[in-house]
Amino acid sequence: MANRTPLIAGNWKMYKTVSEAVETAGQLKKNVADTAGVDIMIAPTFTAIAAVCDSVKGSNIDVGGQDLFWETEGAYTGQLSPTMLVDVGCRYVIIGHSERRQYFAETDESVNKKIAAAIKTGLIPVMCIGESENQREAGQTFSVLDKQVKKGLKGFFADDLKTLVIAYEPVWAIGTGKTATSTQAQEVHQYLRSLLTEIFDQTFAQSVRILYGGSVKPENVSELMSMPDIDGALVGGASLNADIFSKIVRFQ
Ligand code: PEP
Repeated sequence: MANRTPLIAGNWKMYKTVSEAVETAGQLKKNVADTAGVDIMIAPTFTAIAAVCDSVKGSNIDVGGQDLFWETEGAYTGQLSPTMLVDVGCRYVIIGHSERRQYFAETDESVNKKIAAAIKTGLIPVMCIGESENQREAGQTFSVLDKQVKKGLKGFFADDLKTLVIAYEPVWAIGTGKTATSTQAQEVHQYLRSLLTEIFDQTFAQSVRILYGGSVKPENVSELMSMPDIDGALVGGASLNADIFSKIVRFQ
């Protein structure tokens, strides 16, 4: 069994001014200074990325973008390039979050291009996938994930994807307070690993970190993290408060 260091990632979405973001990051830095054996990432809103990178520099917290565009530069109003994220100090980038798929026309094809651009620039891509409530109720969970993974990772070899992180985020559990049970999440994570074995190989499938996301909080994190195929969490709402998020980082 591969040794996968857990990753606890906070997605701050469109919350916090620069000063609020820096204050939360500073508090988090103090709270988690003594934690080891877990990778920690926060993804502030774009305006706060540079200041948060400065604030956590030299600590055990990494910073990520919430999205990127695949071109390096050009006439693309409103977009940020992978090199720009690296330039301000980002190590990770979230790609294909369900809110981007739902409200901003993100597709599996654009996810695929963004993953390629992230990897080329040395950013760690966190590829988000997940089924809607209707799809789960219609028994389509695995076929939806199958399509998202195959299209999102189309054209890559295992060697290209050494840093890839996948976040399984059932859409019905994001921001709703409804968490998938640890058994439901484990079932999907195990399925994803078998799918990655089929597409690539077993060594690769065993080495990829697969996070769970969807209403993770201190009360449910340890149960989720006790599952063999769950390697961490992508946390939205509960990552906005440094005290609550640091409990999640400690799995308690
Ligand atoms: C998310 O935004 O990725 C997420 C999982 O949100 P929440 O934890 O609030 O459900």
